[in-house]
Amino acid sequence: MPSEFDLIRRHFARPASHTLLGIGDDAALITPKTGTALAISTDTLVCGKHFFADVDPCTLGHKSLAVNLSDMAAMGATPRWCLLALTLPEHLANNDSSWLTDFSRGFFTLADKHQVALIGGDTTAGPLNIGVQIIGEIAAEHALRRSGAQLDDDIWVSGLIGDAALALQHSLQHVCLDDDDLARCMPALLTPSARVELGRRLVGLAHSAIDISDGLMADLGHILEQSGKAGVIYLADIPCSTALQKHLPSPLALQCLLAGGDDYELCFTVPSDKRSKIIALSGDLNLPLTRIGSICPGTGLVVKDPEGSTVTLETTGYDHFTA
Ligand code: ADP
Ligand code: MG
Repeated sequence: MPSEFDLIRRHFARPASHTLLGIGDDAALITPKTGTALAISTDTLVCGKHFFADVDPCTLGHKSLAVNLSDMAAMGATPRWCLLALTLPEHLANNDSSWLTDFSRGFFTLADKHQVALIGGDTTAGPLNIGVQIIGEIAAEHALRRSGAQLDDDIWVSGLIGDAALALQHSLQHVCLDDDDLARCMPALLTPSARVELGRRLVGLAHSAIDISDGLMADLGHILEQSGKAGVIYLADIPCSTALQKHLPSPLALQCLLAGGDDYELCFTVPSDKRSKIIALSGDLNLPLTRIGSICPGTGLVVKDPEGSTVTLETTGYDHFTA
């Protein structure tokens, strides 16, 4: 059995950019650019809650960083540094296991893509649990906050919504997808993209933003509540894959689309006179950006179906303590 320090040296210690002192001391030292604020966030993946115990460790490495990058994207921040708190059962840490090699490959491939440096962490034995902390830079006055939505803003989302939840429902055998549909949806669940470049480009354009981790209705609901506004969105305008469309309007598919979560797309609001700018940005980034509704006076979120009736759901998003 390798020691804790062997594991760290073998799998995680690497030279770090934008960093005075990286892995190996009691704390790392970073040197943020003068004039920038630090955006700091943390997200944990718990075995049995956020992933299955037999998940491919390479995709798990990717996802554990991606969900944190997504929080930077939602603020419009540039991610720079991260820390990794890993709790690992002994059988995954021993020398005959390739688990850590594969996990760190998935983690660092995504970190390199975004030029994020791993500068520290913690390694303990116990039930599998992955905590990542991420730190980014942003000019403080430019951060995209949840509280900024204004009357006359359009509501937009990036990418396609609901595929990750649909793939999860397939894994739980609540629905059966054919091979093609599964091949399209499963990557959304296992290896989500973080919309970091989109977030950066929305600075100065969007009044508010959030990443969709708990479900579109729940997360958009946070923007509305913190902005003191109401919102209306149109079911037929919410972008989703043909795989999901096939199952609409079943309650399961509606639930995936409106409340599934794990999308890691951005939901953001932009004044309606800037529509052409968002359409141009979509072309630039080669990423669908879709207008799904608008901000209005009042409180709460209404989802309208094509007949103009209000859509109601059993639950609007995932909550760890009410689930
Ligand atoms: P301490 O005893 O001060 O808690 P540790 O012995 O836990 O320090 O860690 C030694 C060094 O290795 C520290 O710099 C820590 O940040 C780093 N480290 C520990 N675990 C990880 C990990 N999973 N990934 C990256 N760095 C780690
Ligand atoms: Mg110490």
